[in-house]
Amino acid sequence: MIGQRLNEIRKELPPEVKLVAVSKFKSVEDIMEAYRAGQRAFAESRPQELVKKASVLPDDIEWHFIGHLQTNKIKLILPYVNLVQSVDSAHLLEELDRQASIFCRTVDCLLEVHISGEESKQGFEPSEISQIVEERLNLQNVRIRGLMGMASLSGDEHLIHSEFKALRLLADKFKNEGLGYVSMGMSSDYRIAVQEGTNLVRIGTAIFGNRI
Ligand SMILES: *Cc1c(COP(=O)(O)O)cnc(C)c1O
Repeated sequence: MIGQRLNEIRKELPPEVKLVAVSKFKSVEDIMEAYRAGQRAFAESRPQELVKKASVLPDDIEWHFIGHLQTNKIKLILPYVNLVQSVDSAHLLEELDRQASIFCRTVDCLLEVHISGEESKQGFEPSEISQIVEERLNLQNVRIRGLMGMASLSGDEHLIHSEFKALRLLADKFKNEGLGYVSMGMSSDYRIAVQEGTNLVRIGTAIFGNRI
Protein backbone atom coordinates (compact mmCIF):
# COMPACT_ATOMS: atom_id res chain seq x y z
CA MET A 1 0.00 0.00 0.00
CA ILE A 2 2.59 2.54 1.15
CA GLY A 3 4.98 1.54 -1.60
CA GLN A 4 2.25 1.84 -4.20
CA ARG A 5 1.20 5.29 -3.05
CA LEU A 6 4.82 6.41 -3.04
CA ASN A 7 5.32 5.25 -6.59
CA GLU A 8 2.20 7.00 -7.78
CA ILE A 9 3.33 10.27 -6.22
CA ARG A 10 6.84 9.91 -7.62
CA LYS A 11 5.42 9.46 -11.10
CA GLU A 12 3.65 12.80 -10.75
CA LEU A 13 6.65 14.76 -9.56
CA PRO A 14 9.10 16.36 -11.99
CA PRO A 15 12.63 14.98 -11.59
CA GLU A 16 13.97 18.12 -9.89
CA VAL A 17 11.45 17.85 -7.04
CA LYS A 18 12.70 16.11 -3.93
CA LEU A 19 10.11 14.07 -2.06
CA VAL A 20 10.29 14.01 1.72
CA ALA A 21 7.97 11.48 3.38
CA VAL A 22 6.41 12.97 6.50
CA SER A 23 6.38 10.07 8.96
CA LYS A 24 5.23 11.88 12.11
CA PHE A 25 2.96 9.69 14.27
CA LYS A 26 3.66 6.73 11.97
CA SER A 27 5.28 3.52 13.09
CA VAL A 28 8.78 2.25 12.43
CA GLU A 29 7.15 -0.56 10.41
CA ASP A 30 5.39 1.94 8.15
CA ILE A 31 8.66 3.82 7.64
CA MET A 32 10.43 0.56 6.76
CA GLU A 33 7.77 -0.17 4.18
CA ALA A 34 8.49 3.16 2.53
CA TYR A 35 12.22 2.52 2.88
CA ARG A 36 11.92 -0.80 1.07
CA ALA A 37 10.13 1.05 -1.72
CA GLY A 38 13.26 3.19 -2.07
CA GLN A 39 12.34 6.22 0.03
CA ARG A 40 15.29 7.66 1.97
CA ALA A 41 14.20 11.13 3.14
CA PHE A 42 11.76 11.30 6.05
CA ALA A 43 10.49 14.17 8.18
CA GLU A 44 9.41 14.34 11.80
CA SER A 45 7.86 17.16 13.80
CA ARG A 46 8.76 16.20 17.37
CA PRO A 47 12.34 15.87 18.63
CA GLN A 48 11.88 12.81 20.81
CA GLU A 49 10.02 10.98 18.08
CA LEU A 50 12.77 11.71 15.56
CA VAL A 51 15.44 10.44 17.94
CA LYS A 52 13.51 7.29 18.81
CA LYS A 53 13.00 6.38 15.17
CA ALA A 54 16.40 7.46 13.86
CA SER A 55 18.20 5.40 16.48
CA VAL A 56 16.57 2.14 15.33
CA LEU A 57 16.17 2.73 11.59
CA PRO A 58 18.82 2.35 8.84
CA ASP A 59 21.71 4.82 8.87
CA ASP A 60 21.26 5.91 5.29
CA ILE A 61 17.95 7.59 6.06
CA GLU A 62 18.05 11.36 5.72
CA TRP A 63 16.07 12.98 8.56
CA HIS A 64 14.34 16.30 8.24
CA PHE A 65 12.81 18.25 11.10
CA ILE A 66 9.62 20.17 10.27
CA GLY A 67 8.04 21.09 13.61
CA HIS A 68 8.50 23.94 16.03
CA LEU A 69 11.94 23.44 17.57
CA GLN A 70 12.64 24.64 21.09
CA THR A 71 16.27 25.54 21.67
CA ASN A 72 16.53 23.10 24.59
CA LYS A 73 15.71 20.24 22.18
CA ILE A 74 18.37 21.09 19.59
CA LYS A 75 20.96 18.85 21.19
CA LEU A 76 18.62 15.85 21.01
CA ILE A 77 18.22 15.97 17.26
CA LEU A 78 21.68 17.21 16.23
CA PRO A 79 23.23 13.74 16.10
CA TYR A 80 20.60 12.67 13.55
CA VAL A 81 19.12 15.56 11.65
CA ASN A 82 20.14 16.44 8.07
CA LEU A 83 17.90 19.41 7.41
CA VAL A 84 15.99 21.56 9.88
CA GLN A 85 13.22 22.93 7.67
CA SER A 86 11.42 24.94 10.31
CA VAL A 87 13.79 27.64 11.56
CA ASP A 88 11.40 30.37 12.59
CA SER A 89 13.50 32.85 14.59
CA ALA A 90 16.93 34.45 14.58
CA HIS A 91 17.44 33.13 18.08
CA LEU A 92 16.87 29.54 16.94
CA LEU A 93 19.28 30.03 14.05
CA GLU A 94 21.99 31.31 16.39
CA GLU A 95 21.43 28.51 18.88
CA LEU A 96 21.63 25.94 16.09
CA ASP A 97 24.95 27.45 15.07
CA ARG A 98 26.30 27.47 18.60
CA GLN A 99 25.21 23.93 19.44
CA ALA A 100 26.27 22.50 16.08
CA SER A 101 29.77 23.85 16.77
CA ILE A 102 29.82 21.84 20.01
CA PHE A 103 28.98 18.75 17.95
CA CYS A 104 31.70 19.75 15.46
CA ARG A 105 29.25 19.65 12.62
CA THR A 106 27.46 21.89 10.19
CA VAL A 107 23.68 21.74 10.07
CA ASP A 108 21.64 22.66 7.03
CA CYS A 109 18.42 24.54 7.54
CA LEU A 110 15.58 26.33 5.82
CA LEU A 111 13.95 29.52 6.99
CA GLU A 112 10.24 29.06 7.56
CA VAL A 113 8.30 31.89 6.00
CA HIS A 114 4.81 32.90 7.02
CA ILE A 115 3.10 32.96 3.63
CA SER A 116 -0.53 32.37 4.55
CA GLY A 117 -2.83 34.96 6.01
CA GLU A 118 -3.49 32.62 8.91
CA GLU A 119 -2.39 33.92 12.27
CA SER A 120 -1.44 30.66 13.90
CA LYS A 121 1.27 29.75 11.41
CA GLN A 122 4.83 30.29 12.53
CA GLY A 123 7.70 31.71 10.61
CA PHE A 124 9.43 34.87 9.50
CA GLU A 125 7.52 37.53 7.67
CA PRO A 126 8.62 37.68 4.00
CA SER A 127 9.96 41.18 4.61
CA GLU A 128 12.36 39.91 7.30
CA ILE A 129 14.08 37.31 5.14
CA SER A 130 16.60 39.45 3.34
CA GLN A 131 18.04 40.87 6.55
CA ILE A 132 18.22 37.46 8.20
CA VAL A 133 19.99 36.00 5.19
CA GLU A 134 22.48 38.85 4.93
CA GLU A 135 23.32 38.89 8.59
CA ARG A 136 23.61 35.15 9.09
CA LEU A 137 25.29 33.96 5.93
CA ASN A 138 28.62 33.94 7.72
CA LEU A 139 27.54 31.68 10.56
CA GLN A 140 30.11 28.92 10.76
CA ASN A 141 28.00 25.91 11.70
CA VAL A 142 24.64 26.50 10.06
CA ARG A 143 24.01 26.79 6.38
CA ILE A 144 20.81 28.42 5.21
CA ARG A 145 19.82 26.28 2.22
CA GLY A 146 16.48 27.78 1.32
CA LEU A 147 12.97 28.67 2.38
CA MET A 148 9.98 26.66 3.58
CA GLY A 149 6.34 27.65 3.77
CA MET A 150 2.83 26.38 4.30
CA ALA A 151 -0.13 27.68 2.36
CA SER A 152 -3.49 28.41 3.92
CA LEU A 153 -5.57 25.36 4.75
CA SER A 154 -8.21 26.41 2.32
CA GLY A 155 -10.14 25.05 -0.61
CA ASP A 156 -9.37 28.25 -2.47
CA GLU A 157 -6.88 27.17 -5.12
CA HIS A 158 -6.26 30.71 -6.31
CA LEU A 159 -5.20 31.69 -2.83
CA ILE A 160 -2.86 28.70 -2.51
CA HIS A 161 -1.36 29.43 -5.94
CA SER A 162 -0.67 33.02 -4.97
CA GLU A 163 0.89 32.10 -1.62
CA PHE A 164 3.21 29.54 -3.21
CA LYS A 165 4.05 31.92 -6.03
CA ALA A 166 5.08 34.57 -3.50
CA LEU A 167 7.36 32.13 -1.70
CA ARG A 168 8.92 30.98 -4.93
CA LEU A 169 9.63 34.56 -6.01
CA LEU A 170 11.14 35.34 -2.62
CA ALA A 171 13.36 32.26 -2.81
CA ASP A 172 14.50 33.22 -6.30
CA LYS A 173 16.05 36.40 -4.90
CA PHE A 174 18.48 34.40 -2.80
CA LYS A 175 19.33 31.65 -5.27
CA ASN A 176 22.82 33.00 -5.77
CA GLU A 177 23.53 32.92 -2.07
CA GLY A 178 23.21 29.17 -1.72
CA LEU A 179 19.51 29.15 -0.93
CA GLY A 180 18.47 26.66 -3.58
CA TYR A 181 15.57 24.95 -1.83
CA VAL A 182 12.01 26.12 -1.86
CA SER A 183 10.10 23.66 0.29
CA MET A 184 6.39 23.91 -0.34
CA GLY A 185 3.57 21.44 -0.93
CA MET A 186 1.91 18.87 1.33
CA SER A 187 -0.63 16.10 0.61
CA SER A 188 -3.49 18.46 -0.14
CA ASP A 189 -1.59 21.02 -2.20
CA TYR A 190 1.59 19.53 -3.68
CA ARG A 191 0.21 19.59 -7.21
CA ILE A 192 -0.29 23.33 -6.92
CA ALA A 193 3.19 23.67 -5.41
CA VAL A 194 4.66 21.80 -8.39
CA GLN A 195 2.96 24.21 -10.78
CA GLU A 196 4.45 27.09 -8.81
CA GLY A 197 7.99 25.72 -8.97
CA THR A 198 8.60 23.87 -5.71
CA ASN A 199 11.69 21.67 -5.53
CA LEU A 200 10.95 19.97 -2.20
CA VAL A 201 7.58 18.57 -1.16
CA ARG A 202 6.68 17.27 2.31
CA ILE A 203 4.03 14.59 1.98
CA GLY A 204 2.58 12.54 4.83
CA THR A 205 -1.06 11.49 4.60
CA ALA A 206 -1.02 10.78 0.87
CA ILE A 207 1.74 8.20 1.48
CA PHE A 208 0.98 6.76 4.91
CA GLY A 209 -2.75 7.37 5.26
CA ASN A 210 -4.48 9.44 7.90
CA ARG A 211 -2.77 10.10 11.22
CA ILE A 212 -4.91 8.95 14.13
C1 LIG B 1 2.46 17.33 8.90
C2 LIG B 1 3.20 18.23 8.01
C3 LIG B 1 3.30 17.96 6.62
C4 LIG B 1 2.61 16.80 5.95
O1 LIG B 1 1.23 16.96 5.94
P1 LIG B 1 0.29 15.97 5.10
O2 LIG B 1 -0.95 16.74 4.93
O3 LIG B 1 0.11 14.75 5.93
O4 LIG B 1 0.96 15.67 3.83
C5 LIG B 1 4.06 18.81 5.85
N1 LIG B 1 4.69 19.87 6.39
C6 LIG B 1 4.62 20.17 7.70
C7 LIG B 1 5.34 21.35 8.22
C8 LIG B 1 3.87 19.36 8.55
O5 LIG B 1 3.80 19.67 9.85
